[in-house]
Amino acid sequence: MFNDITYRDFCSSTCLPQCDNVPYLTLGLNGEAGEVAEIVKKGLRSETPVNREELLEELGDVLYYLTRIADKFEFTLSDVSIANRRKLIARIKEGRLVS
Ligand SMILES: [Mg+2]
Repeated sequence: MFNDITYRDFCSSTCLPQCDNVPYLTLGLNGEAGEVAEIVKKGLRSETPVNREELLEELGDVLYYLTRIADKFEFTLSDVSIANRRKLIARIKEGRLVS
C-alpha cells in the first residue's frame, strides 16, 4: 500500500541536500505550480486539449514539494487534507461557499 507516510518517506529518501531548506522547497513548489498553470494555459489557447500525461507529471512535482514542506513542519498529507476539509466545511456552514 502506497500511503502518504510511505510517499513522504520516499520523497525524503530522494531529497538532495537543498531539499532540507524551506525557502528552496517553497520556490520549487511555486515553480512546479507554474508548470501546471502553463500546461493548462496552453490548453486554453489552442484547439489541442490539455496533455494529461504532462499534467500528471507536473502535478506529481507539485505533490513532491508540498510533501517535503509539510514534512519539514511535521505534517503528513493527511494532516493537510483534513485541515483543508475542515476549513472548507466551515465556509459552507457560514454560507461563504456554495457546494
Ligand atoms: Mg516539473
